[in-house]
Amino acid sequence: MNNRLIGTLLIFFVVVGVGFATPSHASTKIATDADGAEPVKTAEAASAVKSDGGTATGKASLTPAAKRWQSKTITYRIASKSSYYKSVWKSAVKKWSRSGVVRLVATSGKADITLSNSNSPMGKYDSPVGITYSSYYSNKSLNGLAVMASAKSYVFTNVVNRYHYSKTERTNVAEHELGHALGLEHNVGKQSVMYYAARDQSVAKPDIKGLQHSYR
Ligand SMILES: [Zn+2]
Repeated sequence: MNNRLIGTLLIFFVVVGVGFATPSHASTKIATDADGAEPVKTAEAASAVKSDGGTATGKASLTPAAKRWQSKTITYRIASKSSYYKSVWKSAVKKWSRSGVVRLVATSGKADITLSNSNSPMGKYDSPVGITYSSYYSNKSLNGLAVMASAKSYVFTNVVNRYHYSKTERTNVAEHELGHALGLEHNVGKQSVMYYAARDQSVAKPDIKGLQHSYR
């Protein structure tokens, strides 16, 4: 890894059924793993859970960001083995591409963003439904945002299975994680795919406006 890279990872979650004891703001939170914050089990409802790695700030009409890629042309690789998850990720890529703000280009080589699925290392009971790890350059910024160096997003198969997510809902999770991989943070409002517990919500107007604002 480039030594100008911050040697740490920023971690984001989309959470359903789980909360974390010490949520902190994504732009200041630096951790090398899932933070060591103890997952706190909450009652039931996905909508009643507490947030996670990225504290939502600002207006619901504009999804905030902490990072962006240097270029609007960003490469990605779908690492999922199953055709089912390949199609989930393809749909997610299509949704963000349709915004016309960034150009997502598939590559078989080294990609900026890697998209995959796996069982959650946190187990299916105390885990978020997806996660995105990313790193950024400590000496570069654009529009006041840190410039990203790598991102890797996962949908956690065992967790979405446990909560009986439909394919559309899994695609929404994939869209949420890809949103983090593009530098976006959580939106305070539910009419955003970047709402921390988005399950029913796909990429919406505030998300596209947020992306336009980041990549202006
Ligand atoms: Zn999230």
